[in-house]
Amino acid sequence: MHPPRFIIQTKPYEGCIADFAEAKIVLFGAGYDGTSSYRPGSRFAPNCLRSETYFAQEDYSPYFQMDMKDKKIHDLGDVDIIFGNTAKTLQRIEKVAQFIVKSYKIPVCMGGEHLITLPIVKVLFEKYPELHIIQLDAHLDVMDNLMGERYSHGTVMRRIYELINCPQRIYQVGVRSGSREEYQFSKEHLKLFPFDTKTFLPTIVDLKEKPVYLTIDLDVFDPSLIAGTGTPEAGGIFFQEYIHLLGELAHLHIVGADVVELAPQIDPTNVSTIVASKILRELLLII
Ligand code: MN
Ligand code: MN
Repeated sequence: MHPPRFIIQTKPYEGCIADFAEAKIVLFGAGYDGTSSYRPGSRFAPNCLRSETYFAQEDYSPYFQMDMKDKKIHDLGDVDIIFGNTAKTLQRIEKVAQFIVKSYKIPVCMGGEHLITLPIVKVLFEKYPELHIIQLDAHLDVMDNLMGERYSHGTVMRRIYELINCPQRIYQVGVRSGSREEYQFSKEHLKLFPFDTKTFLPTIVDLKEKPVYLTIDLDVFDPSLIAGTGTPEAGGIFFQEYIHLLGELAHLHIVGADVVELAPQIDPTNVSTIVASKILRELLLII
């Protein structure tokens, strides 16, 4: 199998040392931000995440007693995005995810906005009909449409729910924003764990043996930690809570993941990107 032609070669994420053939995890970028409703800029995230890996020289994780060399990770490059064409862009992301999954590897995507999760989940759901989803996010993202648009970062979990067509399979963690209708929808059809990870942690054991997709919308973190994101929300989680959560998630069968909604240029200190890069690194280590 050959990779799709619309992949842009990039400088690899530091520590990604495996060839595609021997890799277990394949990282790729999908910097689409065409439906961002407030502050765009996540199109720049993949390459910024790659450039802020200075800690790769000190690549030992004291949290998980592992370093990147212990994992077989390959960085495939970026999907060549067609800005202004959401449908075609989603098709391309789907084809790249398909290539990775059909090669028996785990896709991990660097967004882009949250909509890029949809085509990746679609591919994994075809392979794993029992797929469960953990969404770390400040927002519910279950609107039926956003300003008339059905495919948007504000509707992505609604489309995923319709795709999976089975209630109680989407775990929404850390949420603290949404309309009354969205909250009603989520309480009825999804599993909602508001504000932080406390109420979610005891339920993780229910997900053992299940194939799990983990999507991390970086706005789940407190804006003082990640200011560089499209739709920041006060009152988010911090890094230590995330590490504690990852330690629990490490026992699950994670079949794919993504980190979305970093808009690097909004944060002139660049701290958002540095933290996000570490969030991604620790995630890669527990898969
Ligand atoms: Mn989101
Ligand atoms: Mn969000």
